[in-house]
Amino acid sequence: MKILYCWRCKMDVPMLDEAEFAVIHKLYRGGFDATKEFREQHNLSLGHLFIDERFRPVREAYAQMAGWNEPNEHAIMHHRLSYYGPPCKQCGKPLRTPVASFCAACGAEVQ
Ligand SMILES: [Zn+2]
Ligand SMILES: [Zn+2]
Repeated sequence: MKILYCWRCKMDVPMLDEAEFAVIHKLYRGGFDATKEFREQHNLSLGHLFIDERFRPVREAYAQMAGWNEPNEHAIMHHRLSYYGPPCKQCGKPLRTPVASFCAACGAEVQ
């Protein structure tokens, strides 16, 4: 977990490392399928499930890791460190992708 500027949310957010992301991703997949086993495991209703409930385990796991509540599970899914590049040497914002050739924030070229 590392606090990094997110280009989509336009703010600093807790970003997941690969091990953390693996846990979150599994819960996210589980939310889509919402099998009986998954529901029982995460205390979800066995009847009709609202979308919001399906992804509650994702938000809870993230809140626990990040110490911060993110109400949008889809935002959580792009808070993955490996999606971003290293910090720009000039302004310190993370490069938008690991292969970026310039910084989208200040325009500095990546050496
Ligand atoms: Zn974001
Ligand atoms: Zn920059």
